[in-house]
Amino acid sequence: MSARLLDGKSLAAALRAEVAADVAALRAATGRVPGLAVVLVGADPASRSYVTGKEKACAAAGIYSREIPLPAATGRAEILAAVRALNADDAVDGILVQLPLPDPSSERDVIEAIDPAKDVDGFHPTNVGRLVLGLPAFVPCTPNGVLEILRRAGVPLAGAEVVVVGRSQIVGRPLSILLSQKGVDATVTLCHTRTRELARHTRAADVVVVAAGRPHTLTAGMVKPGAVVIDVGVNRVPDPGKASGYRLVGDVDFEPVAATAAAITPVPGGVGPMTVAMLLRNVVEAARRRGAARQ
Ligand code: NAP
Repeated sequence: MSARLLDGKSLAAALRAEVAADVAALRAATGRVPGLAVVLVGADPASRSYVTGKEKACAAAGIYSREIPLPAATGRAEILAAVRALNADDAVDGILVQLPLPDPSSERDVIEAIDPAKDVDGFHPTNVGRLVLGLPAFVPCTPNGVLEILRRAGVPLAGAEVVVVGRSQIVGRPLSILLSQKGVDATVTLCHTRTRELARHTRAADVVVVAAGRPHTLTAGMVKPGAVVIDVGVNRVPDPGKASGYRLVGDVDFEPVAATAAAITPVPGGVGPMTVAMLLRNVVEAARRRGAARQ
């Protein structure tokens, strides 16, 4: 490996320390502790472990968190009622509904029920629209984490050719908007399964971000020597050598790509920790804005 490792864990630790200082300052100034409510419907093990990680990170930063566990069979109306109760709860600055829901057809309604001022995941249409318009908004945590990694690593973005692989509402599409906004100024190409000759695009890129959810989406021959590679993917692949029976891999063929790239994020320990740190930052921002609105 010749690439510089972009260590998301240590970048996130620095960011979380900054958030903890902001929480302490906010508490000293207002007497209030920022609060996050997490709605978890069902007992999917991956969702459970993501929620536990977020709650632990909140505690470490001095943020109050409350979990609202609901049985998997909870209907849309009850989930909406839980969200509305949290909208009205003054101790709650941020609301996060862990996705996917057991019934994915409810997700749009549930997201739209969240008060945009408490939408720390940045998925509400008001925040998505504000992001597109370049107005202050809650920005989805994973794309914001990717941007933060690039910034903190000193990767030049103005005028850079950036290819984003994947156009989901939670990662690829908002990331393409963030990177192309004024002030960041990258030239962005957004690729997906209907893209012809994906490799032709990725090979021309200064920065490649892969958020496809498929191992081996980016292989060594697809990367320009000296490019920066950000791997958002988290995939479980069977591994009899592990007690769990699986291991986590990204969307990038790490070793061969690392031999060509200038810098690369690992999986795990890359984008994931930054996603959680950006969530904490959004919760503090929500608390700050709500405090200012109260005055
Ligand atoms: P998603 O909703 O399934 O979207 C995947 C996107 O990738 C789609 O736009 C799809 O194109 C595109 N795609 C898939 N295979 C492709 C290929 N071979 N070539 C080109 N495009 C391809 O996934 P997501 O929610 O964005 O998540 C993507 C990955 O990131 C997953 O592994 C997920 O676990 C991970 N993730 C990680 C974090 C983190 O914090 N680290 C957070 C969120 C997600 P079409 O639109 O044409 O189908």
